[in-house]
Amino acid sequence: MKKIIYNAKNQIFIYNSINRKKEKFIPIKNNYINMYVCGPTLYNYIHLGNCRTFIFFDIVYRYFKHLNFNVKYVRNITDININNNNINDKNLNFQYFNYITIIQKYFLNFNKILKILNILSPNIEPKTTCHIIEQIENIKKIVKLNLAYKYNGSIYFDIEKYNKKNGNYGKILNNINIKNEFIIKNKFLNEKKNFFDFVIWKKNKNNNIIKWNSPWGEGIPGWHMGCTTLSNKFLGNYFDIHGGGSDLKFPHHECEISQSNVINNNNNNLAKYWLHTNMLTINNKKMSKSLNNFILPYDIINGKLKITNYKKINPIIIRLYIIQTHYRKVINLSKKSIENAKKNYISLLNFFKKVKKVKTKKKSSIDVNILCNECYNSLNDDFNIPLLIYNLFKINNFIDKCINKELQITFKDLEKLKKIMKIFIIDILGLKIIKKKKKLFKKKKIYFLIKSLLKIRNKMKKKKMYYFSDKIRKLLKNYISIIDK
Ligand SMILES: [Zn+2]
Repeated sequence: MKKIIYNAKNQIFIYNSINRKKEKFIPIKNNYINMYVCGPTLYNYIHLGNCRTFIFFDIVYRYFKHLNFNVKYVRNITDININNNNINDKNLNFQYFNYITIIQKYFLNFNKILKILNILSPNIEPKTTCHIIEQIENIKKIVKLNLAYKYNGSIYFDIEKYNKKNGNYGKILNNINIKNEFIIKNKFLNEKKNFFDFVIWKKNKNNNIIKWNSPWGEGIPGWHMGCTTLSNKFLGNYFDIHGGGSDLKFPHHECEISQSNVINNNNNNLAKYWLHTNMLTINNKKMSKSLNNFILPYDIINGKLKITNYKKINPIIIRLYIIQTHYRKVINLSKKSIENAKKNYISLLNFFKKVKKVKTKKKSSIDVNILCNECYNSLNDDFNIPLLIYNLFKINNFIDKCINKELQITFKDLEKLKKIMKIFIIDILGLKIIKKKKKLFKKKKIYFLIKSLLKIRNKMKKKKMYYFSDKIRKLLKNYISIIDK
């Protein structure tokens, strides 16, 4: 097994968004991987599309760890940029207490959802508001280099000047779509001199209680400054992987890059590899608030959706459903795809039960090393999880044939396959075994209820309250037959 792992870690290829091609993955520092993923913005509950990003990077993290890389994984929490418009709470009186309770509400919900989806915690989870001083220091550097200007009290990053010096704003989008993207997201047009500029320090307006002092007056740092500062602080000014949803490519990641290049006086573009997960659609329509097809994980878990026939879906099935599609492709949520995930989950996990039925022989019909290598090769090819699942089914089918005695396997090879299935299904894909706790609990509950009713009945009989004791006997007749001596 060691030999397979050794080969695997030197053969990883990743689609790098910034160069728009698949590239061989070579960490900046041998055997160390520094990875940053943009975390949630705590002004709403996270939806299923957000979960996709966190599930995918969880698998990337688990795989790197399995390959014995020394991984440092940072995922931030954006607990700022909250204003009256983007807080989803009707009763909000924009006061500090409310602000903190709202942040806490969405933060707890975020953690709860990630836990039930079996997503591991990153090594560091910094909050934006805990690092305001560092952000102000970074803004000062940009201002000092004369690459920013003050406008209506706020400070803006000057793209025109930056391009003259560095000439690379819009690297991820390849500059072609930049203008279109700006027009589509025209909210970025307000209050600035030029089309492409973005805010790095936002002036306090309407006497908001969320504010800090700065050389430019009271206000808050711009959203993009949070990620540039936190990634620089915890992973250095040039690290291996920066990830997020595809909607963050522009303007967020483009802005993060520009800021970092100025602050660090380099042209490293912050990270060596940029990875972006694609979006989620419902019946081929984009998930959006305006279309009212915004799915929250609990809606699907608690069976509140028509699309799942109002059936409750286990979070682990949701996890499998999400990873069944390659991370760079659009996922379409449909009744069929969920059912498919459930079927696949049952078949895959059934491996661990049925494998006990195999009677080993002196020779194996096939070279099982090939089957094992195929699993590694699939993840090494730009984290092709659907291909990995296909290869896990190949092992599953081979075992079926060994049980049916169509094919055969040695004890040593069987142990190897058992190990590889455990590594990929449980450790890397994170598909844990669903325990049927609830049913047991229900049975126990009914048992104690019956016992308590019988006790009450006996007391009633002693007090000669036959009318009520008879009622209890009739009530319980479907469960037990009571014979009085
Ligand atoms: Zn970010």
